[in-house]
Amino acid sequence: MSDEFKSKIQNLKSKIPNAIAIDGPAASGKTTIGRMLADYLNCLFLDTGSMYRATTLAALQNSVPIDDEPAVTTLTEQLDMDIIPVQNENDGRLYTVWLNGRDVTWELRAPAVDRHVSQVSAYKGVRQNLVQRQRSMAQRGRVVMVGRDIGTVVLPDAPVKLYIVASAEERARRRMLERRQRGLDVDHDQILADIIRRDRIDSSREHSPMRPAADALIIDTTGRSPEAVLREILALPAFQPAQARP
Ligand code: C5P
Repeated sequence: MSDEFKSKIQNLKSKIPNAIAIDGPAASGKTTIGRMLADYLNCLFLDTGSMYRATTLAALQNSVPIDDEPAVTTLTEQLDMDIIPVQNENDGRLYTVWLNGRDVTWELRAPAVDRHVSQVSAYKGVRQNLVQRQRSMAQRGRVVMVGRDIGTVVLPDAPVKLYIVASAEERARRRMLERRQRGLDVDHDQILADIIRRDRIDSSREHSPMRPAADALIIDTTGRSPEAVLREILALPAFQPAQARP
């Protein structure tokens, strides 16, 4: 391989940071943007919210009382959980979540999970266990990781940190559209109330509250298409070839 070719490949590789941390409140667009970015950059995509949801689903299905922090924590430690890329499923999913040998990707979106997930996510032991799993998943390769505490706790050294926000009204509208597309009932006021309630719990909890990392870029997606937001992100210095950086 010639030196020129080697340096071209190196240059190309150096465009892609090894970890991109994306945080933000419910339905802010972070999962859509994260997935598009991961596809564009050919990176792994990890939506950590699905892990807190899977833990909540396991507690509900195993009749572990959600209020029983020690029991929910012990259950979390015993779970066999993984997130893998979509294979042949053609049902609109962005990834597949396996829980104890079962594909639970859609079950994670059940209203009962929405109702209880923020309480489960506030438990210190649950977070410790899932954060450990998330860090080891990040070792699988270049990764776009999405959640609430990725830039602050899970991957504090990530070279790119984004914090995606949108107005509560717009977020409720997006959730309504998503649910309608899946043929589910929608109640605007209830969806809006649930989003606001979850944000309040997530941002005021004692352990790893939702907040932007000091070095995160805050992006407001209100009234903007995912493509426009993606263009803004890809124009950041971190995504320019090494030689073009100041
Ligand atoms: O992103 P999503 O809405 O699926 O997340 C569900 C819940 O999981 C959030 O409301 C939050 O309570 C919790 N979560 C968290 N930390 C993360 C990701 C999600 O506490 N990194």
